[in-house]
Amino acid sequence: MAEMETHEGGCACGAVRYRTAGQPEIHAVCHCRYCQLRTGSAFGVGAYFPDTDVTLLSGDLSEHKYKTQSGNNVTTCFCKKCGTTTHWQIDSEFLSGKTAIAAGTFDPPSFWFDVNREIFMRTKADFVEIDAVNKFETSGTYKPIKEDEDRQNPA
Ligand SMILES: [Zn+2]
Ligand SMILES: [Zn+2]
Repeated sequence: MAEMETHEGGCACGAVRYRTAGQPEIHAVCHCRYCQLRTGSAFGVGAYFPDTDVTLLSGDLSEHKYKTQSGNNVTTCFCKKCGTTTHWQIDSEFLSGKTAIAAGTFDPPSFWFDVNREIFMRTKADFVEIDAVNKFETSGTYKPIKEDEDRQNPA
């Protein structure tokens, strides 16, 4: 069997380092409010690998856990020193057992895979124009079961 390609990345201060193996199974640009709050920017870029294809090489992580409107439990993992979110996990029908890498933390060339999917277009910033083939108003699993705070909702 051929060796799987590997990629490494880490946080801004360099304390947290990780390695991934193979191609991401799922990747998306996400314009949701949770990603905007997590990054402080207009969108997040996630590359999802099977948990077993992501290896933490170094660093001390803190976690932030929350439940989405659809009732999915999300755990974001960030460097204790510099606060960069390097990865997260979502407990849901399609994403359990996978780890999402915050793709901007990959070492250059950071965006080495094709992103062909944009989700949560409903909260996309007007100035963002991305040429993804597949665009979704929310996501494939969006099924609200709870109210979010106003700051987490689309305007
Ligand atoms: Zn750091
Ligand atoms: Zn999102």
